[in-house]
Parts: sequence; C-alpha cells; structure tokens
Amino acid sequence: MRKIIFESLLHGPLTEPSPGADSAALAEVGAALARVARKRFGRSLAIREVDAGSCNGCELEIHALNNAFYDIERFGLRFVASPRHADVLLVTGPITKNMRQALERTWLATPDPKWVVAVGDCAFDGGMFAGSYACVGGVSSVVAVDLHIRGCPPKPIDLIRGLLALVEHGGVTRGTN
Ligand code: SF4
Repeated sequence: MRKIIFESLLHGPLTEPSPGADSAALAEVGAALARVARKRFGRSLAIREVDAGSCNGCELEIHALNNAFYDIERFGLRFVASPRHADVLLVTGPITKNMRQALERTWLATPDPKWVVAVGDCAFDGGMFAGSYACVGGVSSVVAVDLHIRGCPPKPIDLIRGLLALVEHGGVTRGTN
C-alpha cells in the first residue's frame, strides 16, 4: 500500500485529461437540439434504444451520451425503458434473424408519430456481417428508416448531430417494409 501511494505521488494520476477542444461544438449542437425539440414537441425527446444484433461497439458510444461529459439530458433528450413512451427508436446491429421479430414488435409498440434512426454501418446494410446466414440485413429491411447515422461506430457527437437533423428535417415513419 505504501508503495502504491509513493508511486502515485511520483507519477501523478493516470486518467486521461478531460476533452476540451470540441466541448464548444457539443454545447452548440446540444443547445440547438434542445431548442428545436422544445419547439416541435413542447417537451423533451424520448428515445428507446434497440440492440438488434450489434457487437455492442455502437452501444458503448450511445451509452456515452449519458455520461458526465455528453450528459444529453441537459439538452432535453432522455432514454426511456419502454417503446410505448418513445418518440424515436435508435436501432443498432445487422438485425439478426433472432431479433427481427423483437424489432418489429418494438416498432408496433411505439406510438405514432415515430422516427426510426439506424445507428452504425451494420444498421445501414449489415456492415461486416452482411451476407451472414444469421442476419437479415440493415434496419430498413425490417422497418422504415428515417435517418442513417453511419460509422463503425459513430461518435457521440455524430449521434447528437444526427438527432438534431432528424428533429429539424425528419419525416414521420409510416409503415413496415
Ligand atoms: S457498426 Fe461497428 S461498432 Fe456498430 S455494431 Fe456494427 S461492427 Fe459493431
């Protein structure tokens, strides 16, 4: 124990310095998103995340939206536990055959009007899992998609920019494919 204390005094903390360069961009994009969401909905935007076969890389970036740095609740976005309370379905993964029905049922349980956002290259067209016997393909092969956010995985700031584009210009999902 004494050795650990001594070494930590000598070498200082091993944590990474907090990000600073794009914090201004984050604040700007987040504030714009909060403004548009309040104007269009009169309340915060409710998001239900659906992992439909992802490797969980996209989930790590989505989870980061709730950490102390991104903290998207301050911009009027919140994740909800049930699709019945959601405005937006954030779907990841190449849609495995096992998850196809779950995605369809989640889509049906989400009240209209609703938006579907496909997150990551796998959700776009199957990505590196395209052609696998276990996968159906991109999200659009199961439900109508309003927005694709590409990347493997996309960064949290890209997710926020995508959601801003969605609430500013997005349409309303009308039916399953
Ligand atoms: S897009 Fe990349 S990070 Fe996201 S689920 Fe596919 S392989 Fe994983």
